[in-house]
Amino acid sequence: MKSARSESMPAEQQPPSESSAIGRHWQTQAPVVPADIKLKREQQELILSWPDGQLSTYTAATLRRNCPCASCRTDRQQQADNPLHILANVPDQEPQMSGAELMGNYAIKIIWSDGHDTGIFDYRYLRTLDAIS
Ligand SMILES: [Zn+2]
Repeated sequence: MKSARSESMPAEQQPPSESSAIGRHWQTQAPVVPADIKLKREQQELILSWPDGQLSTYTAATLRRNCPCASCRTDRQQQADNPLHILANVPDQEPQMSGAELMGNYAIKIIWSDGHDTGIFDYRYLRTLDAIS
C-alpha cells in the first residue's frame, strides 16, 4: 500500500480531535437535580420536587439518621457491629435543621442545630433515601 502521507496536507483534512468525544462522556451521567427545594424549619422537613413530578419529604430525624458524612457513617458502622455502642454524633435531643446550603448542582448540605454541618446529601442519595424511608 502506497504511503498517503503528503507534505502539503491542508488543515481541514487533518484528523478530527478526540477531545470532543471524550468531553461528552460525563453528560451520560447527568445529575438528578430537584426542580424545587424547600426547607420548612418549623415542621423540620426538607421537601424536594423532582423533575418527574415526584415529591419527596424528609424529616430531620430521617436525614440525621442517614447523614452521609464520614463520622456519622463510622458511628453507624460501629453501632451495627456493637449494639451497645453509643453514637457520638447523636445528642439526646433530636437535632433540628437550622439551615441548608446548595452544593453546586449535585447536593445539599444540611446545617444542624448542634453545629454538625459536614453532611452533604447528594440528590441521587436523597432520591434513594426517599424510596427506602
Ligand atoms: Zn454526619
